[in-house]
Amino acid sequence: MQYIRNDRAVEVLAAHYGRAPLAVVRSFGCQQNVNDTERLKGVLLDIGFSLTGRAEEADLILFNTCAVREHAEQRVFGNLGALKALKQARPSLLIGLCGCMVEEKSTIEKLRESYPYVDMVLEPNGADRLPDLLVEKLTTRKKALRVPPIRTEVVEAVPLRRESAFKAFLPIMFGCDNNCAYCVVPLVRGGERSRAAADILEEFKALVAAGYKEITLLGQNVNSYGRGTEEKLDFSDLLKMLCEVPGEYKIRFMTSHPKDATRKMVDTIAGSDHLCKHLHLPVQSGSNEVLARMNRRYTADDYLALIRYAKGACPELTFSSDVMVGYPGESDEDFQKTVELVKEVGFTQLFTFIFSKRPGTEAAEQPDDTPHKEKSDRIQHLLQVQDEMIIKLAQPWIGKVFTGLVEGEGREEGTMAARLDNNMLVEFAGDEALLGQFVPLRIDAVKGAVLKGTLA
Ligand code: SF4
Repeated sequence: MQYIRNDRAVEVLAAHYGRAPLAVVRSFGCQQNVNDTERLKGVLLDIGFSLTGRAEEADLILFNTCAVREHAEQRVFGNLGALKALKQARPSLLIGLCGCMVEEKSTIEKLRESYPYVDMVLEPNGADRLPDLLVEKLTTRKKALRVPPIRTEVVEAVPLRRESAFKAFLPIMFGCDNNCAYCVVPLVRGGERSRAAADILEEFKALVAAGYKEITLLGQNVNSYGRGTEEKLDFSDLLKMLCEVPGEYKIRFMTSHPKDATRKMVDTIAGSDHLCKHLHLPVQSGSNEVLARMNRRYTADDYLALIRYAKGACPELTFSSDVMVGYPGESDEDFQKTVELVKEVGFTQLFTFIFSKRPGTEAAEQPDDTPHKEKSDRIQHLLQVQDEMIIKLAQPWIGKVFTGLVEGEGREEGTMAARLDNNMLVEFAGDEALLGQFVPLRIDAVKGAVLKGTLA
């Protein structure tokens, strides 16, 4: 399916506002949502809106939401509450909710009860449908507050307003077929559908030609890319195809699923300088009992076997992961197995979460009698272990020179931050003129999860 500009929307908006209406679009949650937000902005610009960061002057405010944890939802409702006075002061202001939260019945019920001033909801990956929704709203004044159908098709050529001029997200697939017991993604984003490799290649070539230096391929489970497509390319084949494009760029990708991550993929990473030597591989737990209840479909031994192979096949490869603590029924022994696994692998980044019960998931029905205090003690302990691990891991890098992409300002005055191939961040003395460039950096020290360096 191809995106086509909605000329009716262009006419209705021009007639209604008599000027370029202003929109605020805020993104909550993951990289996939950031990229969805870039498409929401692209479509709004395409039908005549201008973008602003100031809610008080906006004609339309859209929140692109995340439902992965309860905390993420509370943040959205908190921000929605803050818009009530603005809507009362300017009833013509349109407010809309997009993204994963709107696929939950509980969200729609809460909007009707507590946030009746929200005008519309739009499903994840629904940017191309936004013009119709605006036309319906402006011409019928009807309120569209019902759970929208989940998108099942892939829409190509949707315009984007990218956040960065040198780093880009490039989705290769949408949805997920894995049904991990704690996860809402399949319930709100639907089943897997991969983009055609030819469409991905075309977008990739355009990004390289436009000077993008880092392109991150996105998918809930990139390792199952290609299932159901005519081309029958798997993820490693796709990586090889993209790496044949000439140019100065680096490729990253997320998220991998350990049950589908292969030695072929590791060999492909080892075989190309375009592929960053970093693998984000969420393990979630080191206990086989917990992994089974999570329906992750791999064991800790499977996971460690792939890591050991990768360390042999590509010694400079680094790893990051997601770990969930306090999953229903997790015993102290289970948790200790997670700590042991974290110590064995040696992750450069570890994203840790306390289990959050999600409506409609299998895990929400699993008995959970571990006190919250015990769960937060476990996560504190894990963070401490990780802090010690990263210092040990980084020692061999001190004094060595690595190439990094300068991606922003450092935390200290007069410093910039660059991301290395292995995904480590280095802060060094420098200025904005270096933004978006690959620079050689000598590593001088380790400060927590960030390295200190000098331009070499
Ligand atoms: S792989 Fe599991 S955790 Fe990841 S999006 Fe799919 S269902 Fe959720």
